[in-house]
Amino acid sequence: MAKFGRSEKEEKIKLEKGAFKKAMRVFRFIKPYQGVFIIGLFFLLLSSITTLGFPYLIGELFGTKDVSQIDLSSIDKNSIEKLDNINIVMLLLFGVFLANAVFSFFRIYLFSVVTEKALRDLRNEAFRKLIYSPISFFDKNKTGELTSRIATDVSLLQEMLTTTLAEFIRQWVTIIVSIAVIAYTSVKLSVIMLSIVPVVLILVIIFGKAIKKLSKQSQDAAAESNSVLSEALTGIKVVKAFANEQFEIFRYKKSTEEIKDLSIKGAVWRGLFASFIIIGLFGSVSIVIWQGMVMVNLGELQMSEFIRFIFFTVFLGASFGGVGAMFGTIQKSIGATERLMDLMEQTTEPFKQGKTAQLKGKVDFQNVWFHYETRPDVQVLKNINLEVQSGESVALVGPSGAGKSTFASLLLRFYEPTKGAILFDNVNGKEFDLTSLRSNMAIVPQEVILFAGTIKENIAYGKPEATEQEITEAAQKANAMEFIQNFPDGLGTMVGDRGVQLSGGQKQRIAIARAVLKNPKILILDEATSSLDSESEKLVQDALDKLMQGRTTFVIAHRLSTIKNADKIVVLEKGEIVETGTHQELIENEGMYAKLCAIQFG
Ligand code: ATP
Repeated sequence: MAKFGRSEKEEKIKLEKGAFKKAMRVFRFIKPYQGVFIIGLFFLLLSSITTLGFPYLIGELFGTKDVSQIDLSSIDKNSIEKLDNINIVMLLLFGVFLANAVFSFFRIYLFSVVTEKALRDLRNEAFRKLIYSPISFFDKNKTGELTSRIATDVSLLQEMLTTTLAEFIRQWVTIIVSIAVIAYTSVKLSVIMLSIVPVVLILVIIFGKAIKKLSKQSQDAAAESNSVLSEALTGIKVVKAFANEQFEIFRYKKSTEEIKDLSIKGAVWRGLFASFIIIGLFGSVSIVIWQGMVMVNLGELQMSEFIRFIFFTVFLGASFGGVGAMFGTIQKSIGATERLMDLMEQTTEPFKQGKTAQLKGKVDFQNVWFHYETRPDVQVLKNINLEVQSGESVALVGPSGAGKSTFASLLLRFYEPTKGAILFDNVNGKEFDLTSLRSNMAIVPQEVILFAGTIKENIAYGKPEATEQEITEAAQKANAMEFIQNFPDGLGTMVGDRGVQLSGGQKQRIAIARAVLKNPKILILDEATSSLDSESEKLVQDALDKLMQGRTTFVIAHRLSTIKNADKIVVLEKGEIVETGTHQELIENEGMYAKLCAIQFG
């Protein structure tokens, strides 16, 4: 058991190392702009160092000249000299501020330029990867999650590259330079300070974490108690009907008791924390100052050096705290970057490989088996054999879940058969370039999705380079022109989320117009399940009949009335073809199709 525990821990560490390594690949996106990035780093270094000019010169300012060193016999002269020194130091301070301001401006500007350019490339690459990902990828990842994850991951990375990274480097420069300066100023005092202050700071951090955890616990308890309250009140009728008031009161009391206990426990810790800060932090600072003053009085340290020491110590403490607080953000950013890099390494569909397809339209399913990657135990299609001649129309029928949509997905090569092959014009589909193969096909889906834009743009989705004339003709063939003309803006009418809402039948006719424009050899019609009103249905059906002419057509039929004229009706059940034939043949066969007809037509 102990051994198991250890190996688990080791694995975790290894994983984190891997994550960091993977996250480093983000620098691939920065590489094209590395020149600017390096200049940015240089400005960062300069601005960090000039920031430290402030505590240095403040020390100088305080002890421009030690009073003890002033020769009493020439007070006037020395006073002027002293003033001169003060003014020079002040001028120097302003010089440092000015330099720091300039360096900081360039640091922020240059880092942003690099980050924004790199992120633009990264966003584009991520989108390219996503859009070229196989459909199976989208089965495993929900679209909503993907979009929000990319948005948050990219913004985390943005924060990391523009702010956190620079801050992190700056804090380390501060820490290193500060330690060097204080050690140079007084080794003895540095040793005393470093053996007290960091220890106290670490304890403060640990203390703070414990308090945070406790306050989280009491928040959780409060949320829990609220849910008891709202549950009891929403279900008040049930509570009363079961005469369970006492039971609910007991439940609520228990949760309020818990809040009280946890909050008091938290208060004790907070109190202790305050006491600790007073004694620990103030105490240790006082010890260092006391020790410093002793050294000043003994002549081991000059006043200006001591003041410088104190200022650098303050900067050092702040930077230690800053670096500590940054670890959480850095860890989150590494996680985000790792996820983005994972996406970048995602395999895409094999485009630009294989033959160009100029199909006539013959389709041949040969011993096709298929199961989804996400559900390997369920055979969705089993040994499908089906030969369809060019120009034939085939209707796929069968109960819900029989595999009709999956059949259409395989045709479009959204998925590859797990066994067997689908031939197009007697050539295995796998041998064709995907873009080229799909350009021979069109689908009129069950649920038509219109993109935000004009009706014209939506129809032209089937052929982006189409002329206005072609688009109008396609709309006419799809029986869509009439309703389009009734809108004041005609083809220029905006649709989609912020445009006019079209009816189901109208949307379908737009989808048909898209398909007409594409002029495919193979057509897939996924019949809408929700019924249209009869007028609309007639227009849609008429448009579809026109569209089907001269093309190999697969109709996923839900209403059997629409497929009586199909050349071939294929009945699928549980992934198998159970019957094939014309309407007449299948009725005479008195099998599954005849039964389905009997159910639908009464
Ligand atoms: P319907 O008429 O209801 O649309 P259908 O005949 O088109 O049904 P398919 O959608 O092809 O049937 O589904 C066939 C089987 O495959 C079902 O058991 C379904 O649960 C499963 N299935 C469909 N899509 C996926 C997927 N993306 N991942 C895993 N299983 C799936």
